[in-house]
Amino acid sequence: MTLGYLSSLDLNNFIQAAREVPYQRIESDLFPGVEVWIRRDDLLDPVISGNKAYKLLFNLLEAREQGADTLITCGGAWSNHIHATAAAGARFGFHTVGIIRGERPPQLSATLQDAERFGMQLLFVSRQVYRKRSYPGFLLELKIAANCSSFIPEGGANLAGARGAQLFGQIIDSSLPAGLNQVWLACGTGLTLAGIQAQLRGVSVIGLPVLKAENSIRGHVSQWQEAPAPDAGEIELCSGYHCEGYAKYPDYLRDFQQMFEQETRIPLDPVYTAKLLYGLHREIAIGRVPAGSKVLVLHSGGLQGRRGFLPN
Ligand SMILES: *Cc1c(COP(=O)(O)O)cnc(C)c1O
Repeated sequence: MTLGYLSSLDLNNFIQAAREVPYQRIESDLFPGVEVWIRRDDLLDPVISGNKAYKLLFNLLEAREQGADTLITCGGAWSNHIHATAAAGARFGFHTVGIIRGERPPQLSATLQDAERFGMQLLFVSRQVYRKRSYPGFLLELKIAANCSSFIPEGGANLAGARGAQLFGQIIDSSLPAGLNQVWLACGTGLTLAGIQAQLRGVSVIGLPVLKAENSIRGHVSQWQEAPAPDAGEIELCSGYHCEGYAKYPDYLRDFQQMFEQETRIPLDPVYTAKLLYGLHREIAIGRVPAGSKVLVLHSGGLQGRRGFLPN
């Protein structure tokens, strides 16, 4: 499958690429009695992947409008957001600086090697310093604030990121195959869930937390949904599938992922989408998804992160 990818930094170009993202029916015994579809935002662009592309879009447009030539952001060693930001900077002509949590290791993760190859300058800071990343003055303290730079918080979690998540919701709303009644997605901060849930009409949206932080996800969702659509429903979280925490990859999850990938030929990432599909599989098995439901699963990308877990 080849798609138009994000060839220029332009809202209409982005919308067009996002509208071309395919929906695919999954035929698999892993989901008995339920019709399952997947939206392949991993295919939106080969390197500016999945939901991170949506969260970056308005951040990039604003940076360009403000005449910024540098994007500064932060994340961990396997961060999809760091990877996408470095790639977007290279593609659209921004310098990029990545503030990375922890000491510089002798051998960089594959993610950070890519980021450097894309031209990102990596700045390693202690966990203690990293904790202050959302305080005003953080960049000054690191002596990297400059007039022509634009700061994007970790994961793209700011107002511009929330607007991007809303756009994601609008695009799904206008392109959803007919008859689907549930949309499932993996949540880290919950910002993507907030945007999508505010925009989708007449379907329930179910977020599956991939880390043990449901309350903070609920908090984030309401924080970013200042004005949800009047007919947007309740926030539904499907708990119990964080598999002991962020980036934890127990054998049963690995086995499930292998089975899913062999049957469908759709690659997943261990941190987000493998847990999402596993959670859906289990919820169907224990009868929590009514037979005959038509479920859309969002493939939110992040496949670059597989390299931290799986032999390539
Ligand atoms: C970051 C990420 C998410 C979570 O997005 P939030 O908006 O933080 O909830 C889901 N899937 C993938 C692949 C991601 O990289």
